[in-house]
Amino acid sequence: MQRVKLLGFGIDDLDFNGAIDYALKRKGQVVTINPEMIDWASNHPDFAKIIENAELVIPDGIGVQIGLKLKGHNIKRIAGVEFAYQLLSKVKSAALIGAKPEIIEKTVENLKKDFPNLDIVYFHDGYFKNDEEIIPEVVNKKPELLLAALGSPKQEEFIYKLKPQLPDTIMVGVGGSFDVWSGEVKRAPVIFQKLGLEWLYRTVKEPKRFKRIFPTLPLFVLKVLWSR
Ligand code: UDP
Repeated sequence: MQRVKLLGFGIDDLDFNGAIDYALKRKGQVVTINPEMIDWASNHPDFAKIIENAELVIPDGIGVQIGLKLKGHNIKRIAGVEFAYQLLSKVKSAALIGAKPEIIEKTVENLKKDFPNLDIVYFHDGYFKNDEEIIPEVVNKKPELLLAALGSPKQEEFIYKLKPQLPDTIMVGVGGSFDVWSGEVKRAPVIFQKLGLEWLYRTVKEPKRFKRIFPTLPLFVLKVLWSR
């Protein structure tokens, strides 16, 4: 597998199915990287180290796809929410950590319907005070897949901490995926997704996201251009 560099961060050159197969075989931490994370990592060496040490780094979002393209790499973005959903269909057991209490409950309920053969061995909302409340129990369950929906960088830090204790688990930080699976948040219509405009749809629906995307996204593209 080839790992290409974008602003100093390695991103794996795999398509959707290739990334799924790799994660299932390799196990470990999967980072679904976006411009906001690259931005944060550029100023936070501890977070940069987590990305560098991830077993798999996949490009989540149009920003990273454009950045890669400007560097001459034709790598298609992989939506983290779809990637994680596909993994759920391939494993026997999973632990889910994150989102608000009512959201995680609804997510578990929906996933049990979607994947009747999946054993959800552990779940917890994402508003715990101390990691130690969670970690011993999760480690004890040894899930094949662990999804952490705590937002970035929290979810990546949490997974990184767990990693040495769960060497045979695939662990993915999935951001707002539980909000989607619970039915609380709707993804953009497919046409927006296809055009790479999901960010636009989400920003219009939820204007406070504007601050997160702007100016990060255009600045990110400029930085990639300057880095040539
Ligand atoms: N979240 C959480 N604990 C926290 C902060 C956030 O469980 O301390 C959850 C939040 O409820 C949401 C998810 O983390 O379900 C991240 O949402 P966000 O919209 O930031 O995700 P992204 O846009 O990164 O996909």
